[in-house]
Amino acid sequence: MINIPKGTKDVLPFESYKWHYVEDIVRKVAKNFGAEEIRTPTFEHTELFLRGVGDTTDIVNKEMYTFEDKGKRSITLKPEGTAGVARSFIENGLQNRAMPLKMYYITPVFRYERPQAGRLREHHQFGVEFYGAKGADIDAEVILLAYTVLTKLGLNVKLNINSMGCEKCRKDYNNALKEYLKDNYDNLCETCQTRYEKNPLRILDCKVDTCKELVKSAPMITDYLCDDCRAHFEKLKTLLDVAALEYNVNPLIVRGLDYYTKTVFEFITTDLGSQGTVCGGGRYDNLIKQLGGGDVAGAGFGMGLERILMLMEAKGIEIKEPAPCKLFVATLGDEAYKKAFQIVSALRQKGVHADLDHMDRSIKAQFKYSDKIKAEYVATIGESELNEGFVTLKKMSDGSTEKIAINDLLTRF
Ligand code: ATP
Ligand code: MG
Repeated sequence: MINIPKGTKDVLPFESYKWHYVEDIVRKVAKNFGAEEIRTPTFEHTELFLRGVGDTTDIVNKEMYTFEDKGKRSITLKPEGTAGVARSFIENGLQNRAMPLKMYYITPVFRYERPQAGRLREHHQFGVEFYGAKGADIDAEVILLAYTVLTKLGLNVKLNINSMGCEKCRKDYNNALKEYLKDNYDNLCETCQTRYEKNPLRILDCKVDTCKELVKSAPMITDYLCDDCRAHFEKLKTLLDVAALEYNVNPLIVRGLDYYTKTVFEFITTDLGSQGTVCGGGRYDNLIKQLGGGDVAGAGFGMGLERILMLMEAKGIEIKEPAPCKLFVATLGDEAYKKAFQIVSALRQKGVHADLDHMDRSIKAQFKYSDKIKAEYVATIGESELNEGFVTLKKMSDGSTEKIAINDLLTRF
């Protein structure tokens, strides 16, 4: 037997309706915020992620699915959703559209990670990309969009926000951080020692306990913000207050991507233990420029859909099952089967969910089966029904029956 690759998951036929439910809510909420869907390829040139996501991030350093295709190009399976959208925005000249351009996506994401609960090698993200506006009002909208989705799905979440400043204030902060960590350099994990040289801020995101302990009393980025970044952060807080959305300022949040500037945020839940982050995002004012486009600001987030479904399940949030079969036509004999086949086909053409037996079941087994699939009505056709032109139609919920002309089944449903 060939097994499923490690860290991947099947969505089975009797559970896909849960995905549809989540996706429907996601699409509706995005639409209410004025966002339209964008779909970009599952793979891109590796270069895009090196330049877009950043080569000091875990995603690029350790987690990418990169391979050479038959044409000797280096290709990478999407490790996140933003870079592809940014590439498409530039390539298709979308900056010529009315701004801001609000987009959303639902996409598979591939990361070579150690699989565990809530951590897969292929997972799916809902994300938004709001491009073209520099103000904190857009950051607030993006955050509110995520919050609306999460609460509509019935989840309780906490919002953490931070500002990573711009290149200007980040330089001062990185220096301060290096100064603070200087004496403890030897106590940093190996990765963080590299980060110390290349991108000290990234140390704040380290999951190793000793590093975590060290950064606890490190200088805080929020104390190093320039006037512009500080005003932006204050405006964001004001707008979140106005929208009555509670938040916690956590200066340790830097998120796992290099492209963030100013606002970063995450929604967390405590229900899932260590994999409690369900959504992470922020502002990225330099990304489009960095990828060869114009001076176009951006903000957005990525939300892990498997983690959301896991949480909903853990909390016992019930998702309504799809409507069952409306009419099951049970048959006895070849002639009856032909008639039933004709009726079922015509009903389906009309848009009615109808079915009949495909397993040569006895009439008794057909009734049992119709029960199993929770058919709403069952009509039985045998030789006498064919001769009379009438069938007995049974409503399964209360067992009531009625006699109805066979051909009237088409108008009855
Ligand atoms: P984490 O700190 O959990 O590794 P991250 O910083 O890598 O998260 P992002 O890159 O911001 O997360 O991705 C956005 C969201 O996608 C996360 O909040 C999470 O819900 C989900 N996610 C990330 N990696 C995985 C994974 N390997 N499996 C399942 N969901 C994931
Ligand atoms: Mg990660």
